[in-house]
Amino acid sequence: GTINCNAVTAKGEIVGATSTCGLFFKVPGRLGDSPVIGAGLYVDGEVGACGSTGWGEGNIRSAGSHTVVEMMRQGKSPEEAALKTLERIVALAKENRDARRKPAFNTVFYVVNKKGEYAGASVYDGIYGSTGKFSRTSFAIADASGARLLETAYLYKKER
Ligand code: ASP
Repeated sequence: GTINCNAVTAKGEIVGATSTCGLFFKVPGRLGDSPVIGAGLYVDGEVGACGSTGWGEGNIRSAGSHTVVEMMRQGKSPEEAALKTLERIVALAKENRDARRKPAFNTVFYVVNKKGEYAGASVYDGIYGSTGKFSRTSFAIADASGARLLETAYLYKKER
């Protein structure tokens, strides 16, 4: 699956990586956002790191991870930068809407800045699985307080 992992050392060194197997039933040759630097991952040693999971086409169009890092460079917090970038992705994604004209996809950003401030942010608060069970979108953090799962900030509540 697709996993993004970012880290900041005590000295302020920053690294990031995004793995992927792409999307289910993708057309042969499809290139997702994960291997595209600036889309599924962007790391700037002076600012921070951002990576993503979710609908890759929309993220490539907005150079999402790069956009998040650039907004942090201009002073936004990780959460503000991620939510603003998600708004841009949604605004441009006119072709990927459900019957109610709401986004028919989720995109999640995982963000950390040089100070170690972090955020996870998603288009929706969660997803309903095929059995109808709701699962809240979350992200994992490990710092001096230990490792834990946190819920993402989000743009919209998912309706059934
Ligand atoms: N972002 C990946 C892609 O579009 C999919 C995923 O997150 O699982 O290829």
